[in-house]
Amino acid sequence: MAKVLFINSGSIGHINPTIAVCKELVSRGEEVVYYIGDQYQDKLADTGVEVRTLPSDEIIQRFTAYGSGNLCYIINGLLNTVDVILPKILAETKDEHYDYLIYDSMFSCGSLIAQKLNIPTVSSVTTFAHTAETFEAALQFNMQALTTTEKNDVDNTFSELQQHIQTTYGVDVVSRYAAMNNPGELNIVYIMKAFQINPELFDTARYRFVGPSVIQPQPTHFMEQINQTRPVIYISLGTVFNQNMRFFNKCLAAFKDIDASVVISIGHTNNVADFEEVPDNVLLKPYVPQTELLQHTTLFLTHAGMNSTNEALLMEVPLLAFPQSADQPVVAQQIEHAQVGQQASSETITAEALKMKVMEMLQNHTTYQAHIKKMKQTQPMARPGYAYAVDQILSFRNQSVHH
Ligand code: UDP
Repeated sequence: MAKVLFINSGSIGHINPTIAVCKELVSRGEEVVYYIGDQYQDKLADTGVEVRTLPSDEIIQRFTAYGSGNLCYIINGLLNTVDVILPKILAETKDEHYDYLIYDSMFSCGSLIAQKLNIPTVSSVTTFAHTAETFEAALQFNMQALTTTEKNDVDNTFSELQQHIQTTYGVDVVSRYAAMNNPGELNIVYIMKAFQINPELFDTARYRFVGPSVIQPQPTHFMEQINQTRPVIYISLGTVFNQNMRFFNKCLAAFKDIDASVVISIGHTNNVADFEEVPDNVLLKPYVPQTELLQHTTLFLTHAGMNSTNEALLMEVPLLAFPQSADQPVVAQQIEHAQVGQQASSETITAEALKMKVMEMLQNHTTYQAHIKKMKQTQPMARPGYAYAVDQILSFRNQSVHH
């Protein structure tokens, strides 16, 4: 048994895959102390970890202080959260001993805290992994989208934050790559290797593509409301960028007279009462038990969030992607590239074109599904992703931790 410090100040998408990992770590005897945003602490309720909180509101406010549309702003935003996370964790753990550290690759100041604690590190990666080179290419692409003044501003802000962190905490902000990706000695990536972009670029000793980390859902009464004698179409734009009412209304218009049951997760900020006429075959909900529903879904219209995509691939559900923001355009591209679905624009597609596309995909359902099955065959799926992840973590621990 060893004592693990887990740090994750990210949102649901960064937390969800770690829930099963924590349960598994605890069931195999590890003692886990998990720092999580206070807004999300209930997520860890049944895991057996010791929960400690970080101030979500302040972290979100600092993270978004420089804007969110460009990778350069995001990196500055992440560095801007260090003052809230790093001193608190260091103060609270200073008299404690931990054998190793697991942190979210983005939201944890992971590589900075690792410099202070000087213990073995595992990075928990909930999106595509990057090498320094692939990240540099993405960064340059984002830089080019900025005007000269904007570019000078982000560079100056980065230098100021870098300087401030170095002098205040005595740790090095080595690069933008380190600030955003925080590579660990071991990197657990919750996607299938065949779905990762350029998987051959990664050092196999350090990068483990464990596949979706999803607990088998317990059946609830949810499915009783849905007619399953016809195809089930599930639509969701996730939990963050889900305000696109126009798109949801377009779906209502497109699917009102097709022979399918349609379920739409509209999110907590949209109001069911604000929707135009809701056809009989459509069920609107602020939130649904997604992993349970996906087990009965024929086609998933998704924002291409990484978790939603992974869950659908695990349940062998073809995807029609409508990326909204963040890493979603890249995930959508990869969905198309891997032929496990298609992508389209939620802004420009018409209700008529949407209907045609969905009909076409329902017709070719088995072909898309065959591509998903083939992808899964290249993965050691005999064990669930979280169990495979913990196998890797414990074997790393055995090699690196000296008792
Ligand atoms: N989710 C859910 N019910 C919903 C909407 C979302 O359970 O009605 C879950 C979904 O299963 C996934 C997560 O919320 O695990 C969304 O993560 P994702 O990375 O797909 O998107 P994000 O919300 O981060 O944009």
